[in-house]
Amino acid sequence: MIFSGWMLWRDDVAVPGPARADGVGSRPPTDTTRGAAAPATWVQGTWEVRGGRVERLHGPAAGIRADLTGWALPGLVDVHCHIGIGSSGPAGPEEQERQAVADRDSGVLAVRDCGVPVDNSWVQDRGDLPLLVRAGRHVARPRRYIRDLAVEVEDPRLLPAELARQARAGDGWVKIVADWIDRSGGADSDLEPLWPRDVLVDAVAAAHAEGARVAAHCFSHTAVDDLIEAGVDDIEHGTGMDDDQFAEAAARGVTVTPTLLQVELFADFADRAGHRYPRYGATMRAMHRGRRDHAERLFASGVHVLPGTDSGGYQEHGTIASELALWGAIGVEPARVLDLATWRARDVLGLESLLPGACADLVVLGEDPRQDLSTLAHPRAVVLRGVRVAGGAGR
Ligand SMILES: [Zn+2]
Repeated sequence: MIFSGWMLWRDDVAVPGPARADGVGSRPPTDTTRGAAAPATWVQGTWEVRGGRVERLHGPAAGIRADLTGWALPGLVDVHCHIGIGSSGPAGPEEQERQAVADRDSGVLAVRDCGVPVDNSWVQDRGDLPLLVRAGRHVARPRRYIRDLAVEVEDPRLLPAELARQARAGDGWVKIVADWIDRSGGADSDLEPLWPRDVLVDAVAAAHAEGARVAAHCFSHTAVDDLIEAGVDDIEHGTGMDDDQFAEAAARGVTVTPTLLQVELFADFADRAGHRYPRYGATMRAMHRGRRDHAERLFASGVHVLPGTDSGGYQEHGTIASELALWGAIGVEPARVLDLATWRARDVLGLESLLPGACADLVVLGEDPRQDLSTLAHPRAVVLRGVRVAGGAGR
């Protein structure tokens, strides 16, 4: 297959990591060194996809007929995408497949599941489904997260052992629930941390010792300092972070996944719980009111921001374009959105992007996404491991 047009590409670096272009074998690499290379740039030219790999054709392209034209990005990434959680709890294999296909057809070709209550590892044996990085199960305390989803640790001092167990079962990530409403406070109930700081310190160390990085669910302000001090790698939602915490996260290389689609729902969460738990309702409503300003400050802070939809449960799968549209709506430059949602996110997960000889995972758009991000919602073609799996019939 010949592609001609513009590609978000890097010419200068050899392909890192193991080969994954043989159809199956979508298991992520265990070596997840963080990329710190030069940024990719938009390059005009002609590329050949053969044997599942992509190569740039140099020299005169006259006479070569392109099978596909447009603007090509590396496969989009969704780092908070629960393949295995449905609208009413754990999802069976058929629903998991529908979710993975919806994600793929939206151009998401790499997923970190960010915690699921089921075994979705079969997805990794399917060459026609996105690359899946598993994070094990959410780890929470009893009555301190959505029912039926988490492993519940009765005695918080057992968190380090549980995180180590989840680390061994996953693909280099684990997920903890760091805060949730504590309903034992009656009308005074609010978001509260689940874990004491010393436990978090030991638990993060235990996960790191198993070679896993730690993602933490966190809505509130109060839980953030302990997470940063304990050395977590990634904060999910981060809606309560203030500017000092942004600065500290940036300085320590802690990523933040803002899940703006999910934050849009905070007023609904407040309405649902606000009668019995007015304090919690007020907290959620205030974060909802301030969400745009808060996200602007996050993107201006120097924190490495990751793309995540929180699909599964409240959000539909296949909604990455809507999440990224919200990034654009608060003023993030389209070129930066595209870089963060592809190259930079793939670097964080230890995945290759569009380099000479790299796995041909690409999303082809019919319009220049730097001019209009909304074109992401309608890919002309989605090419996974060198095979066109979705998109319209046009070239
Ligand atoms: Zn989630």
